[in-house]
Amino acid sequence: MRISKALIIFFLINNMITFDLIGQENETNKNNGPYTQLIIRGVTLINGNGAPPIGPVDIVVENNIIKEIKVVGYPGIAIDHKNRPKLKKGGKELHVDGMYLLPGFIDMHGHIGGEAQGADSEYVFKLWMAHGITTVREPSGRGIDYSLNLKKLSEQNKIVAPRIISYTAFGQTSEEFNPLNDAPISTPEMARQWVRSNAKNGADGIKFFGAEPEIMKAALDENKKLGLGSACHHAQMSVARWNVLHSARAGLTSMEHWYGLPEALFEDKTIQHYPLNYNYNNEQHRFEEAGKLWQQAAKPYSEHWNKVMNELIALDFTIDPTFNIYEASRDLQRARRAEWHEMYTIPSLWKFYQPSKISHGSYWHYWGTEQEIAWKKNYQLWMTFINEYKNRGGRVTAGSDSGFIFQLYGFAYIRELELLREAGFHPLEVIRSATLNGAEALMLDDKIGSVQIGKLADFVIVEENPLENLKVLYGTGAIKLTDNNEVVRVGGVKYTIKDGIIYDAKKLLEDVKQMVLVAKQKENFKIVQPGFKE
Ligand SMILES: [Zn+2]
Repeated sequence: MRISKALIIFFLINNMITFDLIGQENETNKNNGPYTQLIIRGVTLINGNGAPPIGPVDIVVENNIIKEIKVVGYPGIAIDHKNRPKLKKGGKELHVDGMYLLPGFIDMHGHIGGEAQGADSEYVFKLWMAHGITTVREPSGRGIDYSLNLKKLSEQNKIVAPRIISYTAFGQTSEEFNPLNDAPISTPEMARQWVRSNAKNGADGIKFFGAEPEIMKAALDENKKLGLGSACHHAQMSVARWNVLHSARAGLTSMEHWYGLPEALFEDKTIQHYPLNYNYNNEQHRFEEAGKLWQQAAKPYSEHWNKVMNELIALDFTIDPTFNIYEASRDLQRARRAEWHEMYTIPSLWKFYQPSKISHGSYWHYWGTEQEIAWKKNYQLWMTFINEYKNRGGRVTAGSDSGFIFQLYGFAYIRELELLREAGFHPLEVIRSATLNGAEALMLDDKIGSVQIGKLADFVIVEENPLENLKVLYGTGAIKLTDNNEVVRVGGVKYTIKDGIIYDAKKLLEDVKQMVLVAKQKENFKIVQPGFKE
């Protein structure tokens, strides 16, 4: 009697937890995999390994493992059904004839919404998944406990979310994990101790912002011994003593953004040419002067420029440029007025983007023609470096860093792909950066990053050819005029498949639209452009 009472309570609690989790779940997630057998029929495969498109292809998945990739015909010829993989009892067929299938995208720099942005994880995850992003490297924006908890739920597919690779911000502590009792890391030994505890806590790596050389050296050395990954945003406060080259030599596996790279390329100075009234905590100073930085570095293809690039490549160093997150600097209006803000940007995030002396990245105190022109030059020099880095065999990945500077989760990742294209990448090189290169940088290329027998079933399926127009990957699609002179929208990811589970990408977007609508109604919110009265 007693036992059964306890059992009933146990089941009740258990069911409440399940119910709670399903509350976050999308309808489409239920019973949509993984399947004992899933056959995806008739796609054109655009792989992440640089191979050209090929189709029609049938792809067979069992549970979460790719078992067969079979070319089943020729373009323009009816498929002979005799030679197609056979459906087993209990199996599932996905008829997507004529559509394009790519490996799931990897976003190498994805914060799961900061508290200041008011973006909760469901909102962020659905925007990512709706854009084909099945893996995210999360630089612990909201703390490692938060990130590791969501990572676990995602691993178990209890929530709609990409797989999460958690990189702890260096020095960050958690409830479980506070080896230094909140003391700031001030000695190499403390750095080593923190790094060991971080690994024990289950993190996948570390996100640095720069520190004193002896501390960086110790932390990177210890981290390397443990075989974990590392990323660094070389913030200006430490970069004069420790730039990208120091990091790469000490064992950093990837650099974020671009800071620290022009500094490694200085020839006629050792410190950025700061105006004398500069204050790093003034966001306009910070971003305006950053826009002049590449012009202070060695010229493209000069001896020093070549030397730095070749050394980084020899060290197998990954560059994750996150071009998109700075794009408002060269064209503020474009970023502010992106057509998706209306439907998909939640009010709290919209407010966070507005000019402010406090919010990070809201540096539009007075942003005009001069600042934009400087940043356009900055981009040209930066893109020249990144494209040549790729050409010489260096690894370049795709990361978004959304949630700042008018860049919206998911949408901004597709913009990143367009900017890699602008830098000079062939669309197939863009896709490789978005998939296999990311997998390699995460040391997960035996599991994800390309469509290969034995790897996990993470795919993006889209109706239009994304190589011809990357814009078809935007949730809002691309504008097209039909033969009847009608304006239509084409594209938008059709299905995102993660761990063999099929998600209807458009339904995920619809969920987001509803969330935004509810939030707007609650506070009677309307997007008003800054400085205008309604
Ligand atoms: Zn970031």
